[in-house]
Amino acid sequence: MIEKSLVIIKPDGVERGLIGEILRRFENAGLKIIGMKMVWVDRKFAEEHYKAHRKKPFFRELVEFITEGPVVAFVAEGVHAVGNVRRLVGSTSPHEASPGTIRGDFAHMSMAYASKKGLGGKNLIHASGNKAEADAEVKLWFRKEEMHSYSTVHEKHVF
Ligand code: ATP
Ligand code: MG
Repeated sequence: MIEKSLVIIKPDGVERGLIGEILRRFENAGLKIIGMKMVWVDRKFAEEHYKAHRKKPFFRELVEFITEGPVVAFVAEGVHAVGNVRRLVGSTSPHEASPGTIRGDFAHMSMAYASKKGLGGKNLIHASGNKAEADAEVKLWFRKEEMHSYSTVHEKHVF
């Protein structure tokens, strides 16, 4: 039941100075950050990360968006981490994301608007969609040595 999920603070989140605010939400929920780095990914890496979307009409825009600036990638570990991270992040389209979620609190545009403008949907965060996606994404973004095993005070009370 203890899972790892890959989270990426996308270029819009980094440029808006939301790194601390976003990390705080995961830490507050007791999720453990076991690896983290700032990277400016190239087109090839972005295409690999988003390969499931290769056939989508917004694929080119998506790759352009994720490579337009540095991102902060981290691995969050915890009980049902994949689902719990998605709940904290909110729906894909910020326009539909509930208040209280990261996308609902810090963005409001819709994917329809992004598509109309020919832009990738700026929704601040990427989070693994399911356990299989999480396992593949953690492997793609982090080497074993870049992830760490340690105890947090939360483990006594939250895990
Ligand atoms: P992510 O995978 O980034 O966590 P998600 O799982 O909520 O987001 P996906 O369906 O996997 O959503 O879409 C991947 C990303 O593609 C979205 O986060 C968004 O940035 C972008 N996207 C999705 N739909 C559209 C669209 N119609 N127009 C433009 N961009 C889109
Ligand atoms: Mg997804």
